[in-house]
Amino acid sequence: MKKILNYIDGSYCEPFSQDWLDNYNPSKGVVYSKIASSSSVDVDNAYLAAKKAFPSWSNTTINERSAILSKIADLIEDNLDKLAEAESLDNGKPLSLAKSVDIPRASSNFKFFAHAITQFSSEAHESIGLNTMNFTLRQPIGVVGCISPWNLPLYLFTWKIAPALAAGNTVVAKPSEVTPMTAFLLGDICSKAGLPNGVLNIIHGTGPSAGQAIVEHPNIKAISFTGGTKTGEVIARKAAPMFKKLSLELGGKNPNIIFADCNYEKMLSVTIKSSFANQGQICLCGSRIFVEKSIYLKFKKDFVTKVRKLKIGDPFVSTTNIGALVSKPHLEKVVSYIDLAKEEGGKILTGGNKVTVNGSENGYYLEPTVIEIQNQQCRTNQEEIFGPVVTIMPFETEEEVLVMANNVKYGLSATLWTSNIDRTMRVSKKIEAGIVWVNTWLNRDLRTPFGGIKNSGVGREGGFEALKFFTESKNICIKYDN
Ligand code: NAP
Repeated sequence: MKKILNYIDGSYCEPFSQDWLDNYNPSKGVVYSKIASSSSVDVDNAYLAAKKAFPSWSNTTINERSAILSKIADLIEDNLDKLAEAESLDNGKPLSLAKSVDIPRASSNFKFFAHAITQFSSEAHESIGLNTMNFTLRQPIGVVGCISPWNLPLYLFTWKIAPALAAGNTVVAKPSEVTPMTAFLLGDICSKAGLPNGVLNIIHGTGPSAGQAIVEHPNIKAISFTGGTKTGEVIARKAAPMFKKLSLELGGKNPNIIFADCNYEKMLSVTIKSSFANQGQICLCGSRIFVEKSIYLKFKKDFVTKVRKLKIGDPFVSTTNIGALVSKPHLEKVVSYIDLAKEEGGKILTGGNKVTVNGSENGYYLEPTVIEIQNQQCRTNQEEIFGPVVTIMPFETEEEVLVMANNVKYGLSATLWTSNIDRTMRVSKKIEAGIVWVNTWLNRDLRTPFGGIKNSGVGREGGFEALKFFTESKNICIKYDN
């Protein structure tokens, strides 16, 4: 059986413990490879390689660094089919999605930061009269840790690694143990692109073991983490007394607010995506749908009709819209929320059942589910489910929907559908979220700040925000005589 090895100092290696974890193909429900179950020993080896590589990498010219990152981007593009197939097999997502979104975006992440670093500059402040000149020096931090989740595996893994490397750091990174395959393949791509040994080290294993060892390592000075809010809390608690720099991109329970004056057809088709793309396993999915009362009944009928047409099945079949959920425990968690919704008085308008797919009887499939709720305070509407499940309910006024939209502990993203520019501005300003999409969804310009407020995270990724996170700024004040 194929083994997913650690990538340390430019070479693949087995874990020190010789312990291995099972890696499942969720579309079939079978183990198809073994993953290195790494411990603090492996993380320390990765750290030592990264430490050794840092002086030279941090002193490469910007052009040289940029060229290597661009080469990684090109090689990801050249290996699109292979990587997309690996991602789909590992995660259960439709192959079409991996090919059109995940892998192209992983390549764009490298390409973007290869360019961004050439434009990254710092400020100078001349204190006229005092005869001093201040300038800000932005220096790489050293060895940094990057930890990413399973929902968009290579996409989010590279979203952290690319800016960290571009800024001159060396990296110890861990993908989710649930979806390690494309991160494993990335090691080889980096070697082929000429990334010097030790600059990027990829460790596999569980969160509480390998992940925690990265967070607790005394000399890994910054942690960029994307994952659940509860894990973010654990990481913050460990990192705070060590005064580590932390970027936390956490969970969401995002509102999708639909006003009657929107472009209805466009809203309807995008709302299908924002509800169920990647089986609803995107932190930015609009899982709470609020619809203005005058169009609520029409929306309910049209939306449910469209949802019922979505094709659930083998991710490798080109017509599949909804693939498998990522794992059995995750499937059971999502199903438990559907049960909870029923107990709470929610009405299942469509879906709610596990699906048996011919030829893949043990796969983790679930119908896309729409739940009509009466009370937006119910747990189904407050807690992150992270599956193909949305709630819908009507609202009457802008003020009312703002209260409902903001009445959750999360604040990652929000979507508004309206053709009224005044309302767009009023609501966008009052929505408690780090990202607001108006008449669109998941429309990303990589230069923009990305991240959440409230329990959805701390800090921002994207563009120069990410390069700022991965550097320490130092003010140098020079006194001169006239
Ligand atoms: P998770 O369980 O929090 O895991 C995320 C990563 O952290 C994985 O690599 C995990 O390893 C690792 N980890 C777990 N416990 C750890 C610990 N004690 N110390 C260090 N690392 C640890 O999240 P997930 O289930 O993979 O992903 C789903 C969550 O991510 C959802 O809440 C979703 O909203 C959120 N998310 C947020 C964003 C965003 O940009 N805000 C984007 C995508 C996803 P193992 O998996 O190997 O245990």
